[in-house]
Amino acid sequence: MVLAELGQRISQALGSLNAVPVVDEAVLDACLKEIATALLQADVNVRLVANLRNNVKKRVNMEQLASGLNKQKVIEKAVFDELCSMLDGGDPKKTELKKGKTNIVMFVGLQGAGKTTTCTKYAFLWKKKGFKPAMVCADTFRAGAFDQLKQNATKAQIPFYGSYTETDPAIIAQQGVDRFKKEGRDLIIVDTSGRHKQEEALFEEMRQVAAAVNPQHVIFVMDGSIGQAAFDQAKAFHESVDVGQVIITKLDGHAKGGGALSAVAATRSPITFIGTGEHMHEFESFETQKFVGRLLG
Ligand code: GDP
Repeated sequence: MVLAELGQRISQALGSLNAVPVVDEAVLDACLKEIATALLQADVNVRLVANLRNNVKKRVNMEQLASGLNKQKVIEKAVFDELCSMLDGGDPKKTELKKGKTNIVMFVGLQGAGKTTTCTKYAFLWKKKGFKPAMVCADTFRAGAFDQLKQNATKAQIPFYGSYTETDPAIIAQQGVDRFKKEGRDLIIVDTSGRHKQEEALFEEMRQVAAAVNPQHVIFVMDGSIGQAAFDQAKAFHESVDVGQVIITKLDGHAKGGGALSAVAATRSPITFIGTGEHMHEFESFETQKFVGRLLG
């Protein structure tokens, strides 16, 4: 199933409640079954789907619901709330930057996910909030990666580091972090390379870069329009490096971002920001309720 269809399928399942004269246990079960199937086909973790189903059933106790109450609305609200809690990736405090300390943040993700663009958006955002960011290009895989970062950083007036000759990304990463630590930068962002698909060489490289710079935060950047690959992709990154938060990009396009549910489930990490365009300021803090509202259309 294309992930963008997820919200539509859930909405349809909820809509079917309006098509019957009486909403009883059997109708609720059929509706939840359809929602669960849609979520499972979108590669949302099986256990989470079972939880959603059980929790909604517990909340919507048919026998106890007062007659005259709009059961459809009660069910809709329960599903909405459960989807929100599915997107709860744990304590958001863990993703915060510390003032007065050196914050090292490593970005990981597949090629084209929007890492370099997002690094700049992230740096720019924190710069406006009083941090002194700097960006390190540890992508030696893609020709032109350093030039791209350089261009973005220059536009945002953020210091950058990279190399045209060094081929070991872990060495560049370490050199860049060392330099910016000495210069008193309190937010050092390490952009890493990607590949078109998940492959062991990439994950080994991520482990080496992480070992070299010892980041406090690892951010997984994911293209919001990717389909059922979301869960496996997020899980693979999470298993290689200690992903603590997720940023979903390209939510300005057609993507409804259903893959976000899978990414959170796979990493047990919160989504902190979303990308809503190619430009520096097209970057928003993630708000679970708004997102679920949009998912359900
Ligand atoms: P990387 O390979 O992961 O570093 O990806 P890039 O940062 O080079 O981005 C790949 C493409 O996606 C570029 O054309 C970006 O302008 C574009 N891009 C990144 N984030 C967004 C976003 O939030 N919305 C849109 N529409 N495009 C984006």
